[in-house]
Amino acid sequence: MVKRLYIHVPFCVEKCHYCAFISSPPQNGELGEYPDLLIRELRGHPSGGEALASIYFGGGTPSLLQPPQLARLLEEINKHSGISPDAEITLEVNPGTVDQSSLKGFRAAGINRLSLGIQSFDENHLKCLGRIHTAEQSHRAFQDIRAAGFTNVSIDLIHSLPNQTLGQWQTELNHALNLDPEHISIYGLTIEEGTPFAHSYPDNSPALADEDLSADMFDLADTLLTGSGFEHYEIANYARSGYQSQHNNGYWRRDGYLGLGVAAHSFLREGYGIRFSNPDTLEEYLRGVLSGKLPRIGEQQLTRHDAIAEYMFLGLRLAKGIDLNHFEQEFGVSLQSVYGSVIPELAGLGLLIQSESTITLTKRGMLLSNQVFSRLLP
Ligand code: SF4
Repeated sequence: MVKRLYIHVPFCVEKCHYCAFISSPPQNGELGEYPDLLIRELRGHPSGGEALASIYFGGGTPSLLQPPQLARLLEEINKHSGISPDAEITLEVNPGTVDQSSLKGFRAAGINRLSLGIQSFDENHLKCLGRIHTAEQSHRAFQDIRAAGFTNVSIDLIHSLPNQTLGQWQTELNHALNLDPEHISIYGLTIEEGTPFAHSYPDNSPALADEDLSADMFDLADTLLTGSGFEHYEIANYARSGYQSQHNNGYWRRDGYLGLGVAAHSFLREGYGIRFSNPDTLEEYLRGVLSGKLPRIGEQQLTRHDAIAEYMFLGLRLAKGIDLNHFEQEFGVSLQSVYGSVIPELAGLGLLIQSESTITLTKRGMLLSNQVFSRLLP
């Protein structure tokens, strides 16, 4: 078995205007029945082996689940796979779906880390994004989270919102710092196909931030957050010392993980790795689980070539970058022999730093990471 578990909860109160994740408002009874399906799916996987080091409830809006449902899920997971006593157990929370009582219930159920989807503290931007909560609700949720005893809390913010100025972004960052969370994730808005935003904001829309403004926002976040003691440990993530996301670090290190639920992805470390996902509609997922044979969608047995590319893209996301010895242990050849002059060229462009033992992205390399990654297809 794997040591990391991801559980996808594909329900949201309403769809946000920018969102392309698999989620929709729950229909009659769906939310109540969903944990049973997850448990059935879990039991279909082999048990035993190493106890789970991290569990992540993502979505969608997993904070729509009731504390007793989460407690039962964790109990079943523990029975089936074992949960390490110091496991990180994260729940994504939408500020519009929780109160003091539910947060205390989540804590009592065994959740020990929350990821609060604030996105913005500006009422106009929240409306534009189609979020279901106000800034005041986000502040209140954060206070209630502390009152419930959570000491490991992450918040999400999005920059480069339509018509957002650099000054407004600075105000957002100051609000975030005033809350004093242990972890902050910062994303630049991307316009996803098929969303209402794709219709409202075509490529050439003047409301969208250009590359220079987005870069300034990325830099400002880096300056303010690192200046306040946060470590910029991954392209989009900042943490106080000791509070990096263990679960997500596992993704970037290519640990194996199992995904349960609609559209959940899994990665098994067999050979160079196997990736697959669950069906992305509730109907198909339900049919598969009830029949005892859930189809694996898009199963891909990675080649050595794929695995090297993934290793580079994922490892370079981390500030500590790629360890050259580790690369050689994984693939039996030196990184130099795979990439030749590409690494020195990227270093010459100021995108990478190559030391004797590591390769890391510069801040500029982080900003232009997609360009770097496109050069690293071996
Ligand atoms: S709450 Fe999150 S998952 Fe749900 S629609 Fe909004 S952005 Fe998407």
